[in-house]
Amino acid sequence: MAESAAPKATAAAAGRKTRVGPYELGKTIGEGSFAKVKLARDSRTGAVCAIKVLDRNHVLRHKMVEQIKREISTMKLIKHPNVVQLHEVMASKTKIYMVLEFVDGGELFDKIVNSGRLSEDEARRYFHQLINAVDYCHSRGVYHRDLKPENLLLDSHGSLKVSDFGLSAFAPQTKEDGLLHTTCGTPNYVAPEVLADKGYNGMAADVWSCGIILFVLMAGYLPFDDSNLMRLYKLICQANISCPTWFSSGAKKFIKRIIDPNPDTRITIAEILEDEWFKKDYKPPRFEQGEDVNLDDVDAVFNDSEEHLVAEKREKPESMNAFALISRSQGFNLGNLFEKEMMMKLKGDKTGRKGHLSVATEVFEVAPSLHMVELRKTGGDTLEFHNFYKNFSTELKDIVWKAESDTSKKQTK
Ligand code: ADP
Ligand code: MG
Repeated sequence: MAESAAPKATAAAAGRKTRVGPYELGKTIGEGSFAKVKLARDSRTGAVCAIKVLDRNHVLRHKMVEQIKREISTMKLIKHPNVVQLHEVMASKTKIYMVLEFVDGGELFDKIVNSGRLSEDEARRYFHQLINAVDYCHSRGVYHRDLKPENLLLDSHGSLKVSDFGLSAFAPQTKEDGLLHTTCGTPNYVAPEVLADKGYNGMAADVWSCGIILFVLMAGYLPFDDSNLMRLYKLICQANISCPTWFSSGAKKFIKRIIDPNPDTRITIAEILEDEWFKKDYKPPRFEQGEDVNLDDVDAVFNDSEEHLVAEKREKPESMNAFALISRSQGFNLGNLFEKEMMMKLKGDKTGRKGHLSVATEVFEVAPSLHMVELRKTGGDTLEFHNFYKNFSTELKDIVWKAESDTSKKQTK
């Protein structure tokens, strides 16, 4: 071992995980316009979740911090079968992490892309769930403002889960040429009064988007579409809708009541619940009200103190005691176990039999209180090296741990 090649200590050892608080981050499962969504595991319970990672400066720079905070708090209180559950919020110096229920059935939109438009009954079944979610959140004072198929997820039982409720204020919006631009592409699902940006009622605006979604589910295409943004705005504001021939007359009448350009005469959710087409097979939602929910995490994210910040960190390898270290050292390359590496070269001042004795030492941190020092002859006479090593280790005897049968020059301290 004394003359073996030095193990390379690489920090990028395979299998190391990134952690945020108690969560281990996994692969990226989605990338939206203003956030990344990652699969994650809660190391306390083993439960799988999704973590949405947002830019902290962007969120806190926003003028509506108070409103965002209120909506996030409310979302934490909401446990509804058709709303993606928000479990916890954390912040680091640069990021905000929203810990969410993981929904494993993909986006509703993928269904239409893969197998075309839905039957009227199937579309209605999803629409019931969508309205249940929207109605419930509205009753708590939370508006979505960005309802679109990408935010409608399916779980493994085929239930609809609406994501991003209360998060729309995080989406960057810019105003150029007097028009509202969302970075999410074309605003096909956005109500005319929102586009006009003269202040609007969040409830009526969400109802409009639900109507566009219902149309797309049953038609397989968008009611208003144009590659030119100006022409698209015009189509939306005129709201001249023509339903395909396969829509039933009940469905046509219902959709026209929703896609009404005037938010004051547009159908309300209370009226939707009374509509004949809507009422077919409707079952009011049954769910339990959440118990006590702690909002300390939301407060911590939105106040300026740095006290509760988490850090995104690459995990160090597990600590090992000397026995584990020895058992691993036989036949394994120790190099990639170590985080830190320090190298030193010593050179004798007298010329020996074979020139100057030179010794390389490397120090590896195995665990905070356990270091491994490797001594290796890099030049000079072997016997001289053995003498040097004997003297060196005798001097260090109090702090050197030595295995009884270990004849190598690997030492730990
Ligand atoms: P967008 O800005 O388009 O709404 P998001 O950042 O919300 O995008 O998310 C991007 C994609 O990540 C979603 O369209 C969805 O496919 C996936 N995703 C988001 N949240 C979840 C979740 N809780 N469970 C599973 N997948 C999710
Ligand atoms: Mg989304």
